[in-house]
Amino acid sequence: MPELPEVEVVCRGLRPLLVGKTLAQVRTSGLSLRLPMPEAALRCCGVGATVVEVRRRAKYLIIVLDNQVRLVIHLGMTGRLGLFPADSPLAAHDHLGVRFTDGLELRFNDTRRFGSIQLLTPEQDETVHFAALGPEPLLEEFSADYLAGKGARRSQPVKNFLMDGRVVVGIGNIYASEILHEAGISPLKPSNQLSLEEWKALVNQSRSVLRRAIAAGGSTIADFANASGRPGYFQLKLKVYGRSGKACLRCGAMVAQVRLAGRSTFYCEGCQR
Ligand SMILES: [Zn+2]
Repeated sequence: MPELPEVEVVCRGLRPLLVGKTLAQVRTSGLSLRLPMPEAALRCCGVGATVVEVRRRAKYLIIVLDNQVRLVIHLGMTGRLGLFPADSPLAAHDHLGVRFTDGLELRFNDTRRFGSIQLLTPEQDETVHFAALGPEPLLEEFSADYLAGKGARRSQPVKNFLMDGRVVVGIGNIYASEILHEAGISPLKPSNQLSLEEWKALVNQSRSVLRRAIAAGGSTIADFANASGRPGYFQLKLKVYGRSGKACLRCGAMVAQVRLAGRSTFYCEGCQR
């Protein structure tokens, strides 16, 4: 399942390829994704418009057109985007094709159809659309003071807190374990018992782990350029996740595994307090 770093890599890969292209035609499989495909709206408000920006908010990719229409894409579990010559054969599970005037076509492929494609009209405010989402972990508003303020009212384990999209977006199960290990904080520690120093460590390690993951995925950008549409999800070399019973790479103690909120959680009792 794509996480924030994967979506950021897709975003960076597509941006130089899509900006400046003008939409010529839209085709769909006729099957619904997690949400109905905005096919008619895309035909009437999208065709003829030019892509001016490709950006990311949480795990959403936003393709901005010069008439302020925005295409909001979520990859779900198995969604993939690729740029193909429009006359090349479609693959199974290609659900949307956006053809550009230069003869290339952006295709959204999704085996399990948990992804979604939404269209925002110029009148629709993005901040309202994304109102339920917390701050971006790589931006300044995600700070130790912010987390300490939010965490003070919560007694839930800090790992669950960190994975709450209303607190911060884009930290999934695997990266939450990795970030807490790097920060030396137990995933079981109640959120309202963390010190300001610990929140600072969490902010720093969140950024460091996510940035390294984005850098690790940079090499997959070539896949968009050659239009294979197979970016392949990547992962950092994991230091604690999936390593239960093995020696901690930092202190040598044995990595433990527990379930938190139904999710496998890995941590070291030696160096995470
Ligand atoms: Zn350790």
